Order: sequence, then structure tokens, then C-alpha cells
Amino acid sequence: MYCQSCGNSIGANFRFCPKCGGRSLGDSPPTAPTATIAIPGVPTNQASNSATNVQQTSSSAFAGFWIRTVAYLIDLVLITIATVIVVVPLSVSAGIRLGADGFDLAALEGIFAVVGAILGTMVGWIYSAASESSVWQATPGKRLLGLQVGDSNGHRIGFGRATLRYAMKVPSQLALSLPFLLVAFRPDKRGIHDLVAGTFVFKH
Ligand SMILES: [Zn+2]
Repeated sequence: MYCQSCGNSIGANFRFCPKCGGRSLGDSPPTAPTATIAIPGVPTNQASNSATNVQQTSSSAFAGFWIRTVAYLIDLVLITIATVIVVVPLSVSAGIRLGADGFDLAALEGIFAVVGAILGTMVGWIYSAASESSVWQATPGKRLLGLQVGDSNGHRIGFGRATLRYAMKVPSQLALSLPFLLVAFRPDKRGIHDLVAGTFVFKH
């Protein structure tokens, strides 16, 4: 799909142009504006076009801090449920087997905690990276709120880039999540993880 305002090539399931915010989309690039004869004192077609573009750009296509925080909280609940579903049966079956083999389970508690934390991290990674690189271009929480992750054209990112985006949230989390406030203050609403991964979060 192509934006009829700026000619930008757009991801298939976008309803607006991430570059200029234009909502008029078409299957083919816009045709070049027909030549107009400039009449002194009469505003040209081009002048009115650029005024329209300014208006469209000011209605932000980027998703801001609060809606992304709400999406994150929804995802956190779902990730926690998914982690419990994955980790609890595994630990119970491992505990039964190790207990039957005569291992002292209390002594293995530390190992269980570490393995559980690794599994939990993997659940969060797969959940986020697989959904954001899918046709949804969003985690379930983002999809519920009409948000999508994409590159600068709004195109779907691959699993590797989605993994990089997920991993680059960790430094921000270690810094008390303060770097996430960048999302609130930058006009393009990008956190460090977006800047490193070359991604944007769009609001439909
Ligand atoms: Zn555009």
C-alpha cells in the first residue's frame, strides 16, 4: 500500500501513513500532481496540499507513554499466567522425579529458582518477540489497544529485531525504568529499545 499524500510504502495492515499521518492510502503510488498554471495572487494547488500535510502530521501517529504502560500491564498479566502454566508442571514433574531418585529437594531449591527464572525470561521473550514480529505486529496487550510495532515505514519487523527490541528493555529496567520516560518526552515516542532496534510504536 502507498500513502497518497507522501508516496511512502506502507505495511499491509496499516490504516494510516506512519511517516506523514495521512489516511488516504492506495494500492499504487500516488500519481504526480498535474501541472498547474500559477496565477498571481491565487493560491496554487501545491500550497493547499502542504497545509493539509502539516495538519495531518500534527495528529500524532505514535503511541505515547500511558497507553503503552497500560498495554505493558495487560501483557505482564498474560506473561505471568503463561509462565505459571509452563513452569509449575515442569517443576512438579522434575521434583517428583528427583525425589524418587533420592535427591534432597531442599538442597536443590537454589537450582530450581535459577531454572525457573530462566524459563520465565524465555516465556516473556517468546511472547513478546513472536507476537511483535507476527502479522499482528503487536503483543496481545498492544493489539487490544490498537498499537502496532514497525520499522520507520510501519512495516513488520523480523523475529531477530523483535528479540533485540525485547533485550534492550533490560538496561532500562535495571535503571529503575527511568529511561522509559523518553517515550513521554520524545516527539517520536521512542524508548532506548526502539532507538537501538530501529522500531516505532504506532497508534491506530
Ligand atoms: Zn505519507
